Amino acid sequence: MQVVDHVVVGGGVMGSAAAWQLAARGRDVLLLERFSPGHVRGASHGASRIYRTTYDRPEYVDLAVEALTLWRSLDDPSVLTLTGGVSHGVRHEGVAAFFVARGVPHEWLTPAAAAERWPGLRFEGSVLHETATAGRLHADRAVAALQASAASHGADVRHDVQVLRVVAGSSGVVLETTLGDVRARSVVVAVGAWTAGLVGPSLGLDLGPSLVVTQEQPAHFAVLPGAPDEGAWPSFTHQPVGLHPWPSGTYGLATPGEGIKVGFHGVGPVTDPDHRSFLPEPSQLADLQRYAELWLPGVDPTVPAPISCTYTTTPDSDFVLDRRGPVVVAAGFSGHGFKFAPAIGRVLADLASEPADSAPRAAHPAFALARLAGARGHLPTGSSRRPPDEQPTDPRPDAGLDAHPAPAAVGTSPTRTVPQENR
Ligand SMILES: Cc1cc2nc3c(=O)[nH]c(=O)nc-3n(C[C@H](O)[C@H](O)[C@H](O)COP(=O)(O)OP(=O)(O)OC[C@H]3O[C@@H](n4cnc5c(N)ncnc54)[C@H](O)[C@@H]3O)c2cc1C
Repeated sequence: MQVVDHVVVGGGVMGSAAAWQLAARGRDVLLLERFSPGHVRGASHGASRIYRTTYDRPEYVDLAVEALTLWRSLDDPSVLTLTGGVSHGVRHEGVAAFFVARGVPHEWLTPAAAAERWPGLRFEGSVLHETATAGRLHADRAVAALQASAASHGADVRHDVQVLRVVAGSSGVVLETTLGDVRARSVVVAVGAWTAGLVGPSLGLDLGPSLVVTQEQPAHFAVLPGAPDEGAWPSFTHQPVGLHPWPSGTYGLATPGEGIKVGFHGVGPVTDPDHRSFLPEPSQLADLQRYAELWLPGVDPTVPAPISCTYTTTPDSDFVLDRRGPVVVAAGFSGHGFKFAPAIGRVLADLASEPADSAPRAAHPAFALARLAGARGHLPTGSSRRPPDEQPTDPRPDAGLDAHPAPAAVGTSPTRTVPQENR
């Protein structure tokens, strides 16, 4: 049986970041990924994700700021491109107050002034421009760079190895894998849409109801001749003012060589990650084309190139970053986790480095597993975490949202909508 200090299960952006952070501390790390490099079955593939600090809660702003430094420290400078970011529609005072308090460079624009600057987009309401700390992450390159950095610090990165079971014990964990058993002092489980199926049984938790997996379907649209080229587009979110016909607000950004990516947030059909169609839902795609026709005058709405990707969403859209004994859980990134990944990797490495019989301390209480219904009553002894119902609730406005307001204000789409103040 192979014996290592730490196993990380899942080679998406979160697991890769955790492996990097642990290996950089000189730990003996084994990263196990079920599929081949560059696979498209999870949530971390493709060439574009929005990076920005547009949140109004310190735990998210702190992670975003830390992540910016860590992204820049990677060997591949093409992973992060700062283009500026705009949020328009509903005005988010909370975010602006945070920008002022934290000295995040920004400006407010009128829709007309914004449209003059970015004629490919149409604007409404208030336009908040994050001028210097927003942009685009190249998802595939980010995952590859994190794994390369982990390997350069000695981590053993393995693809095409599936972890079948995680058995936690008093002296660590044993993992049953398709390559045989592995024993480790601790394990970080960052398996995205597969979390309920792998973590639930090993911790005796029923996580399915609290970790909802959906198949999301943004699309790329070609830039029209005469419109600003891809390099001149900011990342953008639109939280429509008042009632509107869309299933949710929208987010988008340019993907060099592929056009302008636009998507609704968290409104895809609920799916089983092992039995997905990878096909867009036609009525939602038609909605997206109509949205592009009305709000993106710089693109051709007639020929969308759909993308398929999974969200794993918690009831409050907050992440799960927690530990039970030797098992660290990273899940529920609810469609807005990518930007934070290297900082989340640092939190996961801290959690994995704590004594297994101690109460978890390294993650913010807002990310506690115990707040999820199926996870109650299983707190390990000595845990000082407050039960979730004593947690302060905080309706987030557009913080972190590359998409849309509370469902009440949006259209009446019957599609299942995820509370989506964040992205
Ligand atoms: C359409 C879309 C747009 C998005 N846009 C943004 C954005 O603009 N900004 C932003 O910040 N975030 C965005 N996100 C969210 C972000 O992409 C995710 O939060 C992030 O990728 C989650 O990473 P992960 O590592 O948790 O999951 P995943 O990437 O799904 O990784 C989990 C990995 O675990 C592996 N695995 C599963 N089971 C096993 C097993 N038993 N053994 C071994 N390996 C296993 C899987 O193969 C997979 O590679 C978006 C997400 C989607 C879907």
